[in-house]
Amino acid sequence: MKAVVYNGPKDVSVNTIDDPKIEKPTDVIIRLTTTNICGSDLHMYEGRTSFEKGRVFGHENLGEVIEVGAAVDRIKKGDRVCMPFNVGCGFCENCERGLTGFCLTTNPGTAGAAYGFAEMGPWQGGQAEMMRVPYADFNCLKLPEDAEEKEDDYVMLSDIFPTGWHGVELSGFLPGESIAIYGAGPVGLMAAHSAEIRGASQIFVVDSHDDRLKLAEAMGAIPIDMRKGDPAQQILDATGGLGTDRGVEAVGYQCCDRHGKERSNYTMNCLVKSTKATGGIGVVGVFIAEDPNAPDDLQKEGKIAFDFGNFWFKGQKIGTGQCNVKHYNRRLMNLIKHGRANPAQIISHRLPLDQAPDAYKHFDARDDGWTKVVLKPGI
Ligand code: NAD
Ligand code: ZN
Repeated sequence: MKAVVYNGPKDVSVNTIDDPKIEKPTDVIIRLTTTNICGSDLHMYEGRTSFEKGRVFGHENLGEVIEVGAAVDRIKKGDRVCMPFNVGCGFCENCERGLTGFCLTTNPGTAGAAYGFAEMGPWQGGQAEMMRVPYADFNCLKLPEDAEEKEDDYVMLSDIFPTGWHGVELSGFLPGESIAIYGAGPVGLMAAHSAEIRGASQIFVVDSHDDRLKLAEAMGAIPIDMRKGDPAQQILDATGGLGTDRGVEAVGYQCCDRHGKERSNYTMNCLVKSTKATGGIGVVGVFIAEDPNAPDDLQKEGKIAFDFGNFWFKGQKIGTGQCNVKHYNRRLMNLIKHGRANPAQIISHRLPLDQAPDAYKHFDARDDGWTKVVLKPGI
């Protein structure tokens, strides 16, 4: 089959590799129909992780079940399913508590597993014609009758829609509160969409790219262009000096080509400044990636120093971490099914698998208009 394979920093190609096979009776094989490129793929694409050459990318996957292991009960051949990016087992201590992003079985000893990811287990990604899904009864979300019609919405259930929702949740958000979201990439835009659905009184979205800020505005948010000056101060000015009740970090590591040369503590310091005293901050941006070119040893290890003094003085709270996709995705699926959510509105490109190398280049360079790329292995 064809698959998007990592060859080294900023070098991917579409290669012919072996088809996946049922390895355990609890596996299924999926024929992918939609598989997305994510901002998280860029940590690996840019060569800032230990992602091995030859590995297949892709953790935002949707497709049709074509083969079912002998012990798979609930999922049937022909089902249309979307896979959470987390690979869970369903029976470990963390999965039992709904913390599927921290499964103790699928990547023992570290924090959770994902398809096509560095340091998150051996699972191959889905930017391919087919993929193997382990513990399939647990890891496949069976989609409703309108699965094909709304495929581009449902595929967002694999990661960015629940992750945006999770960022809002981690901030402690309540309906009627105000919120500031740093980053208008796919994750930040999904946080804005979530805040809108959840009844935010005011939503600010910070970025420096016109195309992304326009999308945020179209979703009902107030765009904050950081090229016009300190974004936290702009938010304070717009809120009578008080700031917002809640804040979301949807940028993560900030010292690479696509972010310019800001230091990674920039967004955290802004969040402490633009969030009200006693307010809450949800951090879904990933800071862990290692960059051999980072300007100091701390950033190389994903360690950052931020304004903890003011964070403490303002009595703020913080929540962090991988999204436990399965905890949210059934309810978010219902929002899509009943027309209350349409996450596909941020898609800029629908491309065949063969065009993945070019798409990676444009998305990584943050080229104008390249907001979210979905690959269609079937076309
Ligand atoms: P992205 O890189 O496309 O988006 C980041 C956006 O932030 C860009 O639009 C960029 O212009 C903007 N930006 C850069 N510096 C900024 C700054 N200082 N202030 C405000 N905006 C700034 O990526 P994405 O797909 O939206 O993902 C965002 C982050 O979320 C990444 O770190 C990704 O790895 C992470 N992520 C986390 C989870 C999770 O489970 N926690 C899941 C998916 C993605
Ligand atoms: Zn993703």
